[in-house]
This record gives sequence, structure tokens and C-alpha cells, in this order.
Amino acid sequence: MTHVFYRNSRSTPPKAIRGDGAYIYDDTGKQYLDGSGGAAVSCLGHSDPDVIAAVQTQVASLDFAHTGFFTSEPAEALAERLIAHAPEGLDKVYFVSGGSEAVETALKMARQYCVEIGEPQRTRFISRRQSYHGNTLGALAVGGNVWRKAQFAPLLAETSHIAPCYAYRGQEEDESLEAYGQRVADELETELLRVGPETVIAFIAEPVVGATLGAVPAVPGYFKRIREICDRHGVLLILDEVMCGMGRTGTLFACEQDGVAPDILTIAKGLGAGYQPIGATLCSARIHAAFAQGSGFFQHGHTYIGHPVACAAGHAVVTKLTEGGMVARAAQMGEKLDIALRDAFGNHPHIGDIRGRGMFRGLELVEDRTSKAPFDPARGINKRVKAAAFEAGLICYPMGGTVDGQRGDHVLLAPPFILTEDQIGELIEKLGIAFDAAL
Ligand code: PLP
Repeated sequence: MTHVFYRNSRSTPPKAIRGDGAYIYDDTGKQYLDGSGGAAVSCLGHSDPDVIAAVQTQVASLDFAHTGFFTSEPAEALAERLIAHAPEGLDKVYFVSGGSEAVETALKMARQYCVEIGEPQRTRFISRRQSYHGNTLGALAVGGNVWRKAQFAPLLAETSHIAPCYAYRGQEEDESLEAYGQRVADELETELLRVGPETVIAFIAEPVVGATLGAVPAVPGYFKRIREICDRHGVLLILDEVMCGMGRTGTLFACEQDGVAPDILTIAKGLGAGYQPIGATLCSARIHAAFAQGSGFFQHGHTYIGHPVACAAGHAVVTKLTEGGMVARAAQMGEKLDIALRDAFGNHPHIGDIRGRGMFRGLELVEDRTSKAPFDPARGINKRVKAAAFEAGLICYPMGGTVDGQRGDHVLLAPPFILTEDQIGELIEKLGIAFDAAL
């Protein structure tokens, strides 16, 4: 008998009792290779001594000091380190406790910015179908995952959704990748003109789509075009790197590889690497200045913003990622993982696409490779893969997305950057066992 309200209200998951490197152990002693970092969280694995020491030292000296009264050394240090590595123009960091809070903060910051600069008629966000930005009501409203939103729709603000940049499904036969990217980016301008650009606050997108599509990066040139369109209409660009940021794609921030800098950027997951719950919303100096020269007060906040212990963990994590070489390792091991996946599953009859960047890889599962027909949703393929992998001792993140009206299944891999070549082999072997059992 348990009093915990689990995700699945009909069953209790095994009890995790220990983490060590790339592995989690349950109370029966079973070992699981963490092939997805939970949900792209555990970028440094489960027993990093430096992060553990940073948390222990901080909690022993200052546990908590409310930001209504104080700042703290860990918050100052982490903000400085993040900004030192952030895309051009980003200058301030607002700390929160996770990804949904970071997105919620971004949306409210963007809206209040419009009010501060005397454009209160900007009330609408534009985002993309098949995206995920979090589960709180604001974040859910801009998200484009139909399944996650359905029953809460009456509570959600009206948002425009345009097509994702998803070449595997969207690129036409006679179209180059670049032309495809421009075409789907131009949907933003079409929608802006339809609703009236002066009514739009911001466009929000994930540089590499995670939970809903399975590690889908944009094609070259797409985000540059998006940036131009936003600038032309005075619309802010929010990039959501909650899943794909913090070195996951082989650069500290995923948008570095697209050659664009947003006005607002959200991070979480890998920032605390699982050692503490922490997220952050980074914004440009221009946005902060509008607050400072305007009302002087951001009408938003949570009790645990800038929590010293969470910031101390984040500081240790970012130090490892940058000076400790872990981002470079993500790039290097990510290439090896990609090669291994292609060698093992490149000709698999039910793997339609293998994609991603760095240690962020996705496989799209299809009924038929040639026609790209998805599996019948009634077969619950993604759930079967997850269960079979778990049985084999592998944690992976399969999702059933929606392929523009159709159902599509994919597996997301986001292992710790410390993964060794032998462990890549183990991951491939166990994933193969799961595919044999489930497909
Ligand atoms: N944004 C993106 C891109 C995500 O992938 C997620 C979670 O998967 C979120 C926001 C929400 O983060 P959290 O689950 O920490 O609230």
C-alpha cells in the first residue's frame, strides 16, 4: 500500500535506491543503464563527486535565504558563469526550480516587457505543432502536443501554432533542405500577418525538438530566417533549451549550432543534472533595461527562485561542462553513438529515421520504411519498447507523438556524457533486444 500518487495510477514502479555513473539500481539489485538520463536530465551520470561535494558544502553553510531579502554567492556565481558562455546579447539570469517554471517565466517576462515598452496590445504567442514546453498552464498553452493538452484545453490561452521544422515528414521530394527550411520558417510570417504582427508578443520554439518528436534539429538556415522574421515585426524570439541545452547537443547551448541568439532562453534539466531541481530564464540586456527603466519590478516569482543549494549544484555542473570538458565529450561520444545506432539499426525495417545531435538522438519507429507509415496507435508501440527495454535493463524515453494528424512513435536517447564506448555497445545491444521483443 502506497500513498504516493504515481504517474501511472494503476501500478507502482520499482524502487530506485542507488545511482552510480551511468547506472541506476533498484531494491532488488537490478541494474539499469540510464540511456535517457531519465528525461535528458542526468548529463553527468549519477555519482559525480564534485557536484555532490558542492551541494554538501553549500547546505552546511547556507541552506536558504529568500530572494525577497537576499541574493547569495552561488546565485551570483552561477549567473556570471552562464552569461560568460551564453549566446550573444543575453545578459541576465532569472533562476527557477525546473523547466516549466523557466518557460512560464519566459512567457510572463516577454508579456511584461511589451507592457513596459508601451505595447500592451501584444497579447499572443506563436509556437509550433508537435512541440513541448512544459506542463503548467501557460507552458502547456504554447506547447503543441495535442495529446498532453486535450483535456486542459478550456483552461489554456489561445496560441497560434505553425508547422515544426521536421524534414523527415515535411520535406517534399523535389525540395532542397534549405528550401524546405525557408518554407516552414515563412509560415511564421504568414501567421503574423494573419493575426496582426502588432498583437504578437513572441515566437517560442525548441532548437532541437525533444519530448514530442525525438531529437529533431532544424535544417540549416531555418532559425536564421525565423530570427529575421521576428526582428522585422518587433516580435521576441524565445528558445526553449530545457531539454536540448547544457551541452546535450555537443555545444553548451543548442542554438549556437544554428547561428542565432534569442531574446530569451530557457534551460533546466541538465543545469542541475539531477543533483538539484533548478532551471533558469536568460534574457537580453534590452529586456532587463525595459524593466529597470519602466516599472522597476517583474510581477512574477516563486518561493524557491535562486535557491542557494540548487545554484551551487548548477555552478558545479556548468564548471564540469565547460572547464571540465564534458561538453566536448558530449560532442565526441555523440558522434560514436550516432555511428553505432546507424550500424545497428540503419537498415532495420521499422526504423524510419535516426537523427539528433551530440548525446541527444532519436529513432522514429514506423510500420513501413518506404511509405513512412506510422504504427497503428492502438498497438502502443512506444509503451511496448519502453517496457521491453526496461526489462532488459535499459532506460530509454519512447514517446508516441502526433505526426500532423497521424500518430508517430519514437525513442529518445539522452545518455550521460560520461558514457564509455563499452556502454554505447551495451545500450545498442539492449535497445536491439527491446526492438526484437516489441516491434
Ligand atoms: N521545455 C521543454 C523543451 C521540455 O522538454 C520540458 C520537459 O520535458 C519542459 C519544458 C518542462 O520541464 P519540466 O518537466 O522540468 O517542468
